[in-house]
Amino acid sequence: MNIRRVLFRLLSVLLISSTLFAQTTTTATPGPAQAANPSVAQTPKESVPYTPSLDPAAMDRSIDPCVNFYQYSCGGWEKANPIPPDQTSWSVYGKLFEDNMAVLRGILEQAASAKQRDAVTQKIGDFYAACMDEAAVNRRGISAIRPQLDAIAKLKSVRDLAPEVANLQLAIQGSGIIFGSGSLQDPDNSDQEIAGLDQGGLGLPDRDYYTKEDTKSKEIRDRYVQHVQKIFELLGDSPAAAAQQAANVMRMETALAKASLTRVERRDPFKLKNKMNVAGLAGLTPNFDWPLFFRTANTPKFEILNVTAPAFFKELNVQLSSEPLDNWKNYLRYHLANSYSPYLSDNFVQENFEFYRKYLRGAKELRPRWKRCVEYVDDNLGEALGQVYVRKAFSPQLKAETLDMTKRIEDAMEQRIRGLDWMSPETKEQALAKLHAIRNKIGYPDKWRDYSSVNVTPTDFAGDVRNAIVFESHRQLNKIGRPVDRNEWQMTPPTVNAYYDPQMNDINFPAGVLQPPLYDPKTDAAPNYGDTGGTIGHELTHGFDDEGRHFDARGNLKDWWTKADSERFDQRAKCIEDQYSQYVAVDDLHVNGKLTEGENIADLGGEILAWIAWKEATKGQQLRPVDGLTPEQRFFVGFAQWDCANIRPELLREMTITNPHSPPRDRINGVVVNMPEFSASFACKAGQPMVKSPDQVCKIW
Ligand SMILES: [Zn+2]
Repeated sequence: MNIRRVLFRLLSVLLISSTLFAQTTTTATPGPAQAANPSVAQTPKESVPYTPSLDPAAMDRSIDPCVNFYQYSCGGWEKANPIPPDQTSWSVYGKLFEDNMAVLRGILEQAASAKQRDAVTQKIGDFYAACMDEAAVNRRGISAIRPQLDAIAKLKSVRDLAPEVANLQLAIQGSGIIFGSGSLQDPDNSDQEIAGLDQGGLGLPDRDYYTKEDTKSKEIRDRYVQHVQKIFELLGDSPAAAAQQAANVMRMETALAKASLTRVERRDPFKLKNKMNVAGLAGLTPNFDWPLFFRTANTPKFEILNVTAPAFFKELNVQLSSEPLDNWKNYLRYHLANSYSPYLSDNFVQENFEFYRKYLRGAKELRPRWKRCVEYVDDNLGEALGQVYVRKAFSPQLKAETLDMTKRIEDAMEQRIRGLDWMSPETKEQALAKLHAIRNKIGYPDKWRDYSSVNVTPTDFAGDVRNAIVFESHRQLNKIGRPVDRNEWQMTPPTVNAYYDPQMNDINFPAGVLQPPLYDPKTDAAPNYGDTGGTIGHELTHGFDDEGRHFDARGNLKDWWTKADSERFDQRAKCIEDQYSQYVAVDDLHVNGKLTEGENIADLGGEILAWIAWKEATKGQQLRPVDGLTPEQRFFVGFAQWDCANIRPELLREMTITNPHSPPRDRINGVVVNMPEFSASFACKAGQPMVKSPDQVCKIW
């Protein structure tokens, strides 16, 4: 039952995706990898090693910036930073994340071994120690999930599924067994939490993997069926039985996938709003015992819930009557074992790696065990680990500096809104009200989550994970019927990422993303504004992109636009959609201009705001060239160098299908072609690839 993110999925994050470096439950992997890349941190560290926010060595000055600005800014970085064998991509963000991990490792090793420990240190130390004890994990084997397997074996009829699905959902992370459930902010009253259900139940990264008919998609499906079979064999089934069951799982998941909304459909928040009562839900899926499901999950009483995808729950009803009980039991066994594979014995860990990280995303080696263990502590006890982390990595001065920058970016937004030639005064007034209502959350939460009720022992790793997931599931469910806690964060403090939440109407920058080279207190304002200023502007713009613009100042789903302004916005957004649709991501796969529309709008808007704020912040100052670059050029190179990256083609394929962000090269070049300030800074000429003719330039904010 994992929750807000699953149900409404409206958080707009900055990055390609957090799963680029941090792997989700289904993709995490183990092993004895030694990265060949010397830049990869291999030992615990006290602090993150310093890298400047603009690195001339990362550039390739043999490239004309007006021909390919990304390559000019990042060509040197790409050559010097091959993808380490245990990674699926490597980037400035990914490297900082790895450096952060070495700091977290130091914290956790100390926490695991110290004699005198406070409650928080003991919790994270024991969790880490349990994870690192590979021998104990191997000895336990599948006995760690034996009680749940036994409960599945005892099911007597399809009607009995509801309570077992509730129990499994409580203990499993991700998009949910069969479907997703939890709490969410009421789209009509953002101060209130309500119950919600969502589509889910798939083992591949997206519903499109089940429906596309190209050769590569078919190959991936065949390979997935082999993976499912392998999991059944690891659970002790004969190869013949396992093969038959895997085919059944594939058929069941395909039926659910076909009834699921696409990612582009899910960008329309009005489509996701379908409120009903439990009787209405029972009308969609009469074959499922909903009252018993909610009772077993111990959900607080409620009248109204939101069902994001009603058609999915209708199809589920068909499946419940057409698939026999044995097929459902095997479906549950598979998903239980698949979800827990990263926390079980080596044979499960290895199979999880082989399919999700090696085949699907291109990694060559398992990540060392310590990296996975650091990540699992962050996933499960993130605000406990974060407390210790921010004491080391985030000073009050850094908080004050970045907050000042945020306010300057917001002032730039106000200036832009007031000056827009396509928006009416009525809509402008609403836009400004929304802008002024945005909350800035910097570094870490004001109040830390209390994990004291999570039972953690140093000897039962899978049990610790289960306890932490169950705690989080209940924490989310218990929100139903209560007021929204606007102080809560959706990312942990060490996370190297940022987000805007349209229902909270807040921008959130964890301490992890405000470190060099992204924010560099030692260097001048130009690259800092190009990089972190652009990031702040990016998140701010999400409040006004094709999705975020439908929410008002309070975070309610309510159009505050006049019809004519709405149409003018759509025209401008179409310019951006068409531009990015022309880019080829990998092989013959184009960027999906509709899926990436919001992120592309935010990338462009963010950089325009950063430029205005930087000019304002440095007004009257004598700025001089450095390393042969003018201050204006340093602004843009600083911007481009946030996203220097190498990505394996396998991962790039997945991202193109599932990820709302464009590939790094397009995120940089796609922005600068729309900024005349760029071509002026580099004296580019009309007709060059990084220069659009003025009538072609896309501009919204
Ligand atoms: Zn974003």
